[in-house]
Amino acid sequence: MDPQKEVVDRLRSAFRSGVTLPVEFRRSQLKQLMSMMRDNEEQIIDALHQDLAKPKFETILAEIEIITNELHHAISNISSWMQPEYAATNLATKFDDCSIRREPLGVVLIIGPWNYPLQLLILPMVGAIAAGNCVVIKPSEVSPATDSLVAELIPKYLSQDCYAVIRGGAEETKALLEIRFDHIFYTGSQAVARTVVQAASVHLTPVTLELGGKCPCLIYGHVNIAIAARRLVWSKFFNAGQSCVAPDYVVCSTATRDALLPLIRQVLEDFYSTEPQKSPDLARIVSPRHWTRLMGLLGKTRGKVVVGGESNQEDKYIAPTVVVDVAEDDALMKEEIFGPLLPILTAESVEKGIELVNRKEKPLALYVFSDESSVVKTVMEKTSSGGFCANDGIIHMTLPSLPFGGVGASGWGSYHGRWGFEAFSHRKSCMLRGWALERLNGLRYPPYTENKLTWLRWTTSPNASCSMM
Ligand code: NAD
Repeated sequence: MDPQKEVVDRLRSAFRSGVTLPVEFRRSQLKQLMSMMRDNEEQIIDALHQDLAKPKFETILAEIEIITNELHHAISNISSWMQPEYAATNLATKFDDCSIRREPLGVVLIIGPWNYPLQLLILPMVGAIAAGNCVVIKPSEVSPATDSLVAELIPKYLSQDCYAVIRGGAEETKALLEIRFDHIFYTGSQAVARTVVQAASVHLTPVTLELGGKCPCLIYGHVNIAIAARRLVWSKFFNAGQSCVAPDYVVCSTATRDALLPLIRQVLEDFYSTEPQKSPDLARIVSPRHWTRLMGLLGKTRGKVVVGGESNQEDKYIAPTVVVDVAEDDALMKEEIFGPLLPILTAESVEKGIELVNRKEKPLALYVFSDESSVVKTVMEKTSSGGFCANDGIIHMTLPSLPFGGVGASGWGSYHGRWGFEAFSHRKSCMLRGWALERLNGLRYPPYTENKLTWLRWTTSPNASCSMM
């Protein structure tokens, strides 16, 4: 038998046995995940360093802490999330028990990318376990050290009947997608998302897509430009720009750009010294293929490189780079950059900036930097994006109380905190009826009469405030 199918069948039997249903089981598995994170901190830091030269600080912040925070949140709230939600009743159902109950979907598949290779597998897994599912996770082969660590640790800590890791690249993932799952949660590129959706359509499997896109950062009106520069540089060059929510490009007026550039130079020096290649705080590009893609974009741009531009192929290094005089049809504006290259485009008014942004697909995140609340409000109301953050970058995705996800081409669905639990739950409408009010209920039965209809219509009229149907 196909080994992938064998794994999924094993999980399906476990799911059917009902073992994942009790809250105690779910909570114990989440606690096991917490132990996995605590016991193996050094190995995790090491694996991420091997894969991306990810600084320990960034691994602790964006992989370990974000996961343990999500686990704490889920462990504390799972009981209340699982409670039935009582629904309003009407005249005919007054004595009935009407509720929305969350039930697990079944055996779900989570496919992860390489840029936050642990966070983006385990965070959705927390929601899936909390919701009572059995779970297959498929780490990215592009981050091999994390891939093999995950495959080693998950079976050590979690129930092997209910949770499994299946490894492989594009071919293995395509084969995996032929198997029927009850939900597919995919994080990665838009191109591969199309393959995932096509495969899911065969079994009509629902999907959550966590994709990317070009996240703009608009800077308009009066603004604390010194702090803006620090926050922009941090959010852009964290993980060497390989964040789905990194500001992809800046749009501002020529005057703002001119004020910003010397500050960006200074902040880069403060953060990474005058020799960023030697800084332990700057990650590397994940693979030679991705390095070549980014250098290709830099080679094709018709803009002017004003900061950085240096690179080293062997070290998979690209300096934090800023490019100005970038046109809307430039190579840097045709695809998500996903690396340490920051184009700055100019548009003289916030309205023109908004128009520029709105000519593109809806992004995963949109940022505005301004001291003027009217500017922030205008941008928030006249643009659409998965998430929105004023006067900072990335930070909005760290709160488990905010749903994280895209809109349109940047993704379908959302997760984090309760939203992760919801993503992996079915909301079942339940009506538990007794035998009361049968005379009133009898109005709907044949033989149909005008009199019965008049009464029924009266119950639904706004004046009656006691709708029956
Ligand atoms: P990717 O699409 O190349 O790979 C993601 C996963 O898909 C991997 O596990 C890989 O093995 C698998 N895969 C690759 N090719 C496949 C194929 N042909 N068929 C089936 N499966 C295949 O994505 P990536 O390069 O790992 O990630 C980068 C993209 O992900 C960027 O666009 C980024 O914005 C996006 N991203 C989004 C989020 C988010 O939360 N929305 C987070 C991180 C990354």
